[in-house]
Amino acid sequence: MTSDPKPNTALCGMTPMCQRCGTPADTVRNCHPWCSVCGQYLVHDPEYGDWTTFADREYRRRTAGIQQRITASAEHVAQAVAAVHDRLPADWHAVACQHIDGATHTLDIQPPAGSIDAIAYLIPPTGRGDGWLVRVHNRTRHLDFPLYHAGGARAASFGSASEALDAAIEALRIEIVSAGYR
Ligand SMILES: [Zn+2]
Repeated sequence: MTSDPKPNTALCGMTPMCQRCGTPADTVRNCHPWCSVCGQYLVHDPEYGDWTTFADREYRRRTAGIQQRITASAEHVAQAVAAVHDRLPADWHAVACQHIDGATHTLDIQPPAGSIDAIAYLIPPTGRGDGWLVRVHNRTRHLDFPLYHAGGARAASFGSASEALDAAIEALRIEIVSAGYR
């Protein structure tokens, strides 16, 4: 809570109306408009231009951030599909996927049919300065692991989808060899 002695309502020049119940908040407590119907402090949300609870505003901001990451991942993956196309060995496939509704998109690298029941997920950057990550899922061996830098404790991050693809193919080939296939 702020120690500002003036109510926040004066800052925005709006009559605070509770977004939840539609009741004008004519009470100020601890410098914040108070909805006596909901029993909640109200705070202005400039994104929506309304007055809502602190919890709702926080939820909206978090949801917006997640949605932005999902949209960005779909764009990264769509561009990567084209970028890696010519780099794929014969009979290997790269497929854009959103495995779980509401999750980020991935580019799935599938080895040739009949070689091994494994897949590598290329996970696009989620923020500025991040790179691509690679996870390998070997269904036969029930193994799921991220690629790490050699000798390092941090997951390997690749500057481009093509670099991530090369690492994914190398990792899957190791899985194929260790499974006894050629
Ligand atoms: Zn209310």
